[in-house]
Amino acid sequence: MLYKPYIDFLSEHAVDPDKRRYAIAEEGPRHYIDIDHYGAFPYDSLPRKWEAAVARYSEDSLVQHGIVPWWLQIMQSRLTAAFKEKDQAKILKLSAEIGHYMADAHVPLHACSNHNGQLSGQQGIHGFWESRVPELLADKDWDFFIGKAVYISRPGDFAWSTILESAAAADSVLRFEKILSNRFPADQKYAYEERNGVIVRQYSTAYTIAYDQMLHGMVERRMRQAIFAVASCWYTAWVNAGQPDLRQLSNTQFSATDLQEFDWLNEQWKKGKIAGREHE
Ligand SMILES: [Zn+2]
Repeated sequence: MLYKPYIDFLSEHAVDPDKRRYAIAEEGPRHYIDIDHYGAFPYDSLPRKWEAAVARYSEDSLVQHGIVPWWLQIMQSRLTAAFKEKDQAKILKLSAEIGHYMADAHVPLHACSNHNGQLSGQQGIHGFWESRVPELLADKDWDFFIGKAVYISRPGDFAWSTILESAAAADSVLRFEKILSNRFPADQKYAYEERNGVIVRQYSTAYTIAYDQMLHGMVERRMRQAIFAVASCWYTAWVNAGQPDLRQLSNTQFSATDLQEFDWLNEQWKKGKIAGREHE
């Protein structure tokens, strides 16, 4: 098993794509798609193949509205190539990063132009769904044991069906919070609570639990599906590379260039200014 000893590396570097958004403008659109820009579910006017989509909408316009389903396919081929090269450092870096994009693709608000509730007076809902709810509930109540990874015979179709599931769920994510907000005592919606040693205003515990209940476990379900999808992407890349012997990989140490890149990403991220458009 290749990944187990590198679990810390993988979780640390799974956030590299988010850090890269602070460094290069092209990074942002790889994390989302405002699919409602293309009409109504199931958005048939948007060709699933990149070339056909470019022909219809132009590359600029596609990039402007996000490209995660296509980017996932690029990452999948890169990871497959890394397995073929038996390059352990590359495999680990790409595995961590594809995990990030695949997890983003499972978040309903990453498939919706109203991605932070900015169009409906629900600013903050993005972090509420993807950070506050799991941070409060995941350790105690959620089960992340998933079955065995499966082989994904068509990574393109898989990426698109993931996005369509997310897009279909976005409506409930927004609507339920609106309903809850209207019926919840306004002075109990937020609370000042401690977070990493600092007192911050955030959605209160009671509000968070009530929201999770309205969603009937959607956040947990999407997270479980994301974990399963990531494991399956890794497994699929290994199979498509001809099932190389993982005990005989080269580049088992990260190169000086790799380490420089990690440092550079951290520096850009600490400067704290997003390159290009903000979209969590
Ligand atoms: Zn992201």
